[in-house]
Amino acid sequence: MAYLSGNSFFVYFLFTIIFGLGILHASAELQRFTHTPKSDGSLSFLVLGDWGRRGEYNQSEVAFQMGEVGEKLDIDFVISTGDNFYDDGLTSEHDPNFEESFSKIYTAKSLQKQWYSVLGNHDYRGDAEAQLSPFLRQIDSKWLCLRSFIVDSELAEIFFVDTTPFVQEYFTESEEHNYDWKGIYPPKTYISNLLKDLDMALRESTAKWKIVVGHHAIKSIGHHGDTQELISQLLPILQANNIDFYMNGHDHCLEHINDTKSPIQFLTSGAGSKAWRGDIEETNRKDVNFFYDGQGFMSVQLTQTDAIILFYDVFGKVLHRIISSKELRSSM
Ligand SMILES: [Zn+2]
Repeated sequence: MAYLSGNSFFVYFLFTIIFGLGILHASAELQRFTHTPKSDGSLSFLVLGDWGRRGEYNQSEVAFQMGEVGEKLDIDFVISTGDNFYDDGLTSEHDPNFEESFSKIYTAKSLQKQWYSVLGNHDYRGDAEAQLSPFLRQIDSKWLCLRSFIVDSELAEIFFVDTTPFVQEYFTESEEHNYDWKGIYPPKTYISNLLKDLDMALRESTAKWKIVVGHHAIKSIGHHGDTQELISQLLPILQANNIDFYMNGHDHCLEHINDTKSPIQFLTSGAGSKAWRGDIEETNRKDVNFFYDGQGFMSVQLTQTDAIILFYDVFGKVLHRIISSKELRSSM
C-alpha cells in the first residue's frame, strides 16, 4: 500500500477508526467501584449465597445471625454469591419478591451497608436485567448487582465474575428451563472478552489481597460438584495471577477446599436458605478442609498481614476458621 488516493485514504482512515473502536469495545474495562476501608486500613465483610425465599427455609434465621456478626465485626459491606431470588429470579424490576426476599429480611442495622451481588443460574431464569436495574437501588439503596465488576478497597481488590454463561448445560437443557440470555450472545465471545478483561485487571492489580467471586464453584464436593468449564477456562487465569481466594455459592453448603497447584483457597458460601443436607459427593479428596451441609454464611476480616475467615451455622456458631498470613506465605 505504497500509495493511497484521497478517497481510499479516507476509507482506510475510517476503517482504522471503526476497527480500533471495535477492539476497544471488545475489551472494555470492567466497571470499577471504590469502597473506602476502615480508618486503620482493615476491611471486614460477610459472604452469603443462594438465599431469596421470602424468609423461608431459615433464610430469616440466617439473616438474624448475619446481623449479629455484622455488628460485632463492624462490617464494611456484604457480598452475595448469587441465586439471589428463587425459584426463577425476578419477573421484572417491579417484582415484589425483591422487597419480600431482600429488604424485609436483612433488616439488622449492621446489614444496611452496600451489598455487592452477582447473578446465579436461578437469576438467569427470570428477567436477569431486572436485578441490574438502577430502579432497584431506588427501592433499596444497599442493593448493587452487575454481571462482572470490580470493588477496589485499597487493601483488597474483589473481582466479580458472571459465571452462569460458562456452563454449557444451561444452553442445552432449555426445554426444562428458560434462561434470559439477552446481552450474552454469542456466549463464546462474551466469555472470551470477560476472561481477557479479568486477566488484564488482575495483572494490573497491586492490592495486597486479590479475591475473585463467582456464583459457580470451581471445586466443590456438594451436589453440583466441580464446574469443569471454570476449571479449564477461569482457573488458569486465577493461578497465573496469584489470587488468594475464590468465593462462590451454587452448592447449598459451606466448604473450604485447597487448590492442589497453587495457594488459592476455594470457599463456598451458598447456604443462605434451603440447604441440601446429606447431598455430598462420596470422595476421599485430600484437598477438602471443611464441608458443612446446613445453613449459614461466612465472614472475612482482612489486614495488611492476615485474613481471618469464619464459617457460621444458622445459630451463629463458628464451625470453621481459616487464618491466612501474607508474611508466612511470602516466606514459604
Ligand atoms: Zn445456582
